[in-house]
Amino acid sequence: MSNCDICGGRPQAKHKLDCKCCRKVFHINCVDVDEDQLQFYIAGDAIWLCTGCNAIIGNKQTIVTDATAISDIQNSLKMILDQQNHFLLKMVRNDQDIKNLKAKAKDAAIEEDITGHDKRIKILETAMKTLEDTNNTLKTKMDNFQQSSRINCLEVTGVPKSANENNIKYH
Ligand SMILES: [Zn+2]
Ligand SMILES: [Zn+2]
Repeated sequence: MSNCDICGGRPQAKHKLDCKCCRKVFHINCVDVDEDQLQFYIAGDAIWLCTGCNAIIGNKQTIVTDATAISDIQNSLKMILDQQNHFLLKMVRNDQDIKNLKAKAKDAAIEEDITGHDKRIKILETAMKTLEDTNNTLKTKMDNFQQSSRINCLEVTGVPKSANENNIKYH
């Protein structure tokens, strides 16, 4: 059972290789496998089949390989789809972020606009107050002028008019 199928000798564990299909045992030297290659087969990185099994299931192996390839492609596709979904989700989030930022910016702009309007109203109010003050000053001045000018318009009655009397000069 555990004798080499080629030479009939009993291989040591570190030189022993068994076919994954028929489970026959071989010396690695008898099947032209070196110790480095053996490590691959032991680690399961590669599957070793004896020449007989290889000849029988050669075609089968191709099918197995195709199935593996299909499975690999399916896995890759799934990974790509996952990544795509991930990016889509990110994009949706970014879109939402941009919308939020835009809304914030709009609010800030309106706020700034309101502040600007407030400032302008304050300035106008101040200007109006100044104009009002000036207006009042002018009114007072005008009143004073009118008061003075009325002197010229005073009509004096009951006093006999003298010859050559100056009606303009009053003092
Ligand atoms: Zn052998
Ligand atoms: Zn075999």
